[in-house]
Amino acid sequence: MSTTKIWLSSPHMGGNELKYVHEAFATNWVAPLGPNVTGFETDLESYLGQNSFVGALSSGTAALHLALILLDVKRDDEVICQSMTFSASANPIVYQGAKPIFIDSESETWNMCPIALEEAIQDRISKGKKPKAIIAVHLYGMPFKVDEIRKIANTYQIPIVEDSAESLGSTYKGQKCGTFGDISILSFNGNKIITTSGGGAIVCKSVEQKNKAVFLSTQARDNAPHYQHSEIGYNYRMSNICAGIGRGQMEILTNHVNLRRDMHDFYVNLFANQDGITVFSEPNTDYYSNHWLSCIVVNPDKANGLTREKLRLQLESENIESRPLWKPMHLQPVFADCPYYGGTVAERLFQNGLCLPSGSNLSDDDRNRIESVIKTAL
Ligand SMILES: *Cc1c(COP(=O)(O)O)cnc(C)c1O
Repeated sequence: MSTTKIWLSSPHMGGNELKYVHEAFATNWVAPLGPNVTGFETDLESYLGQNSFVGALSSGTAALHLALILLDVKRDDEVICQSMTFSASANPIVYQGAKPIFIDSESETWNMCPIALEEAIQDRISKGKKPKAIIAVHLYGMPFKVDEIRKIANTYQIPIVEDSAESLGSTYKGQKCGTFGDISILSFNGNKIITTSGGGAIVCKSVEQKNKAVFLSTQARDNAPHYQHSEIGYNYRMSNICAGIGRGQMEILTNHVNLRRDMHDFYVNLFANQDGITVFSEPNTDYYSNHWLSCIVVNPDKANGLTREKLRLQLESENIESRPLWKPMHLQPVFADCPYYGGTVAERLFQNGLCLPSGSNLSDDDRNRIESVIKTAL
């Protein structure tokens, strides 16, 4: 194949990343601490506002794991989790020896269904165990129904872990995603809205909680000249090199969110007169998505028999990456034995949904190629 590959979402540097990385080398701060780590945390804290205390970590998964530890999730506890998400939202529950309880999505934001959530909480309590935490996700950058989920969490006094891995730059009622959880997490993996090549962050509500997270992420060393430990620690801190990339990326975050939103508009226009294809969009103006990935749902009955899979294969044959939506966790072999509450919203989205190339670095030429394949398929 002679054409270059068009990716779903690839790293997009702004320009100053190398400057910060060079600084790290010049001062020999090539370690999991240093001025870039502090600088990146400060950048994130001032961006998020709302009294956020940020700890930079090696991954979003590590941040979720530490969030559950801070919320005292232990062996045989139950933790509620959105079913339609990336497996990293749920895996840390199992790291703790706890049991995931999966919840269906609602069809407006594709995120945790408040009705199924309340049903699950009541049923788990009636079976003798109150869930320890609720892991809610802003999928593809679309904020979940924050008010509804928060109200239920408060009623039953269960903390929310806000998985904001895909939603840095999104807002709900004007407030930034990453500030709604009792603890929130971010990811800077290579395919996310900004990247540190690999990395994540925990967003805490107090400096004490942040310090505890950082303590655990650096092997839980007690204050002593020798290595002294009273708790089990982890090696989860972000390096000063990665944080340098993050500082450069924070300078262009807003710009890249706008470019991703332009990609979403491009697909809205492309499919505007096409029956049977819906572009995933905000339900109303309370929601502002970073449109990390642009997604569509195909209804073959109305789209002249075109299916999600046919479209995916046609794009693939032209060296254009696209991918089915997240396969819900309750349908994954590894979680087959876990309780599930809700209907078939997530399952149907998985059957008919497709993520399309969404990067902030796609050129006019790339868009033309995508458009011509899609037009041919239609
Ligand atoms: C990417 C992602 C994570 C995990 O982040 P990593 O930095 O890759 O460990 C968690 N949850 C969701 C929803 C994600 O998309």
